[in-house]
Amino acid sequence: MKIVDLRVTSVNVPFEAILRWACGVETGTTRGIIEVITEDGIIGLGETYGGAAVEHAIETARPFVIGLDALDIGVLMRRFAVFCIGYETAIPAIVRAGIEMACLDAAGKSLGLPLHKLLGGKTRDTVEFGAYVFYRYRDAKTGIGGEDSPQAIAERTRELCSRHGFTDIKLKGGVYPPAQEFKALELIRADFPDAPLRWDPNAAWSVETSIRIGHRLIASGMDLEYLEDPTASLEGMSQVRKAVSVPLATNMCLVAWDQIAPGIRMRAVDVILSDLHYWGGVQQNRKMIAVAEAFNLGVGMHSDRELGISTAAMLHFAATTPWITYAIDSHYHDQLDDVITEPFVYRDGSMTVPDGPGLGVELDRDKLARYHAAYKKEGGISEFYDPARPSWVPALPLF
Ligand code: MG
Repeated sequence: MKIVDLRVTSVNVPFEAILRWACGVETGTTRGIIEVITEDGIIGLGETYGGAAVEHAIETARPFVIGLDALDIGVLMRRFAVFCIGYETAIPAIVRAGIEMACLDAAGKSLGLPLHKLLGGKTRDTVEFGAYVFYRYRDAKTGIGGEDSPQAIAERTRELCSRHGFTDIKLKGGVYPPAQEFKALELIRADFPDAPLRWDPNAAWSVETSIRIGHRLIASGMDLEYLEDPTASLEGMSQVRKAVSVPLATNMCLVAWDQIAPGIRMRAVDVILSDLHYWGGVQQNRKMIAVAEAFNLGVGMHSDRELGISTAAMLHFAATTPWITYAIDSHYHDQLDDVITEPFVYRDGSMTVPDGPGLGVELDRDKLARYHAAYKKEGGISEFYDPARPSWVPALPLF
């Protein structure tokens, strides 16, 4: 199962409306669809972020991948270790993750086994997702969106839970002053008194604001499942956590191997949000989660606008990782399309783990071509800019 070729195709897939978050807007997703081709003609599919930098990194990775057996993913990651020594970022974790994903898909296809079998077996057939609720600008093309008030957010939450069966809810905040977003949470809580509920302002608040809001959350009896990244950095999160007894989660300040030890020593977080891409793939997530288990930290899963190939990988990984006890995040319900032949659907707020060989999804070549043409025309979609707020700058530390 020697690998003879490696390629990546960047695609743009639009959202049905413009999602707002603390650092800009999300109008769609630019993803890199990776294909690993073996000598016997098997094509393994992977996915990561797209764009010119990722395409360049894939080219840099080529000599480390070509000639390797697709099953030797441990060897592959060790080959890539040279790019993890601090100053060398030519093949970042997000690219290593996409290549590993494609090798795993090729390995599963070659053996005729679903990825969850290669990962030790699934402990559940479906994986639960949260209702990921965003403030949205109205999209001029679709006419959808426009949620800019607590009432509109409450209505959007009811709509998502009704349509997809979600029972766990996450409000993406950091857009309006916390008092207004707090009002939205109160309305959601009134509609869903028993639902696990999260709030994620993406580090838009100072330590002082985070502590004040934390006290308010406790006094209100809101009973948040967790508050996600209220403020920036391990130091800031640690100060907030010492001051208030609200569980804190992160996908911002503890996202790499060398942040685990200081994060635990500082008691900065209660829940680490895994991410197949940020952490550099399945094996790296396994290592991180083993540490989380040893220290009794909770683990969920972060989303950054994955299409169906990455979503399949997330399903296989979550289904084989019982320590992931929280409903996982996804933007899937905001996306207008996908590049796989049979896009996933939610049933009772969950998706079914594929049972076909490898990832269990197939590439739709027509859609790949269509959305690659969109990428060529539009360029990469940045989420770190809001045209409606041209003078805004983030209140984030500049490291
Ligand atoms: Mg987050």
